[in-house]
Amino acid sequence: MLRKFLLQASIRRNFTASSSSFVFLRQCSSSSSSSSQIPNGHFVEHLEKSAESPPSATISVDRTALYNPPGSIKIYSYDSVFFFSFYVYCEGWICLYVEHSHEPSAESVLVKNLKNIIKFRGGPITVSEYMEEVLTNPKAGYYINRDVFGADGDFITSPEVSQMFGEMIGVWAMCLWEQMGKPNKVNLVELGPGRGTLLADLLHGASKFKNFTDSLHIHMIECSPALQKLQYENLKCATEDGADENEKRINSTIAESPVSWHAMLEQVPTGLPTIIIAHEFFDALPLHQFQKASRGWCEKMVDVTENSSFRFVLSPQPTPATLYLMKRFKWAETEEIARLNHIEVCPKAIDLTQEISKRIAIDGGGALIIDYGVNGIVSNSLQAIRKHKFVDILDNPGSADLSAYVDFAAIRHSAEEVPGASVHGPMTQSQFLGSLGINFRVEALLDNCTEEQAEYLRTGYWRLVGEGEAPFWEGPDDQTPIGMGTRYLAMAIVNQKQGIPVPFQ
Ligand code: SAH
Repeated sequence: MLRKFLLQASIRRNFTASSSSFVFLRQCSSSSSSSSQIPNGHFVEHLEKSAESPPSATISVDRTALYNPPGSIKIYSYDSVFFFSFYVYCEGWICLYVEHSHEPSAESVLVKNLKNIIKFRGGPITVSEYMEEVLTNPKAGYYINRDVFGADGDFITSPEVSQMFGEMIGVWAMCLWEQMGKPNKVNLVELGPGRGTLLADLLHGASKFKNFTDSLHIHMIECSPALQKLQYENLKCATEDGADENEKRINSTIAESPVSWHAMLEQVPTGLPTIIIAHEFFDALPLHQFQKASRGWCEKMVDVTENSSFRFVLSPQPTPATLYLMKRFKWAETEEIARLNHIEVCPKAIDLTQEISKRIAIDGGGALIIDYGVNGIVSNSLQAIRKHKFVDILDNPGSADLSAYVDFAAIRHSAEEVPGASVHGPMTQSQFLGSLGINFRVEALLDNCTEEQAEYLRTGYWRLVGEGEAPFWEGPDDQTPIGMGTRYLAMAIVNQKQGIPVPFQ
């Protein structure tokens, strides 16, 4: 079946996009970064060092409002970026703050909104709240009103790199469906479908396997009305009147499958076996950041200074998210924790994993999670990308994508807590796609294409499965295709009764 699937589709992607146009992958695998963690401009650890630098003349005022302490203020400058440290002595403990000044020229709706939240809260917000507002605020969030992908957007993802990606996910889904006993009704859920390209390619590739496509009820979990519209178009949807006057039924004409949209997974009807796909969704979930200080682990928060710019501060006492930090520590080795000065914890990823696992344990089916990440604790990876370049996380919020490495070990532990669900992987994207037969697929496509299309295919293939810079590249250095093959990991959660899913055996 696999081989048949690989050979049956023909090249149909619009090849107008130039393979040499510069595109930025969210995984940050450019040769400049050798570490598995992403460097950014906001290491609060610099604070402790900055305390030894000479003082400058600017004053930072604490607005955390968690207490009103008598304080001694020390202000330091570092190049054009200001790092402030503010030592507050209160009941024997020391509180340390940092500022990184950012003042957008004209305040956007989102910036005003963030400042209002901080003002009315009477203190700083968590990085998680900041991230959630920035990405998904219903009026002005980064994803809400626009198409952010591709050469004209901010970054590119695997489904946009090559049709082969969605086709291979289709192979995986069909193999899983076979292992599920070929049920005649299945929920196919995609979390965060972007432009809808992955599913469109999956349906095109699978369209000859009628038993499979006829079973599908497609559910798109998408917060962005703009992207919902694009998904509707890319899935070639048609709307028909339903049984009663107010009911509308939407079908993807690619495979005649019904499609519906939801804000969250809970809204997808239960009771049917379910296949869930999450590609680059977990990396966009809001996370909490903690930093080790002399008084222990403190949560990093976002505050506004007197001169109205955003800055990071450290919480003076444990915050509610500390519960999740403790949970994460229970899953880690003592030595792993001892090595860390920063840590990222994503309660939404942990909770979502449990929800996915419970659904699969009860209804049957499986989930595939592919993202850039590591199989262990993530230290300090939150990054902002605008127009294919890293920018500061606090710079003009809402105008850049925010994402972070996914902690696959936390996902595994979280799923393992659910009886009836089994977890497999992670394995690298390169192993995953290779085992599913991407090599056969690229060969079949190369047999039947123009030279321009061949270059596009080879570049796309490298991006999906390669590691580091493409050795065959002859174009400008700064446009060298970077492989996503090892930085991206694939993990599956399936109903235990179905056995081990392809290709994790
Ligand atoms: N899977 C796609 C897009 C990844 S970007 C691809 O690989 O190309 C993240 C996607 O998740 C976007 O579609 C974004 O709008 C959506 N998204 C982010 N946070 C969300 C949330 N909390 N609820 C629903 N959708 C969300």
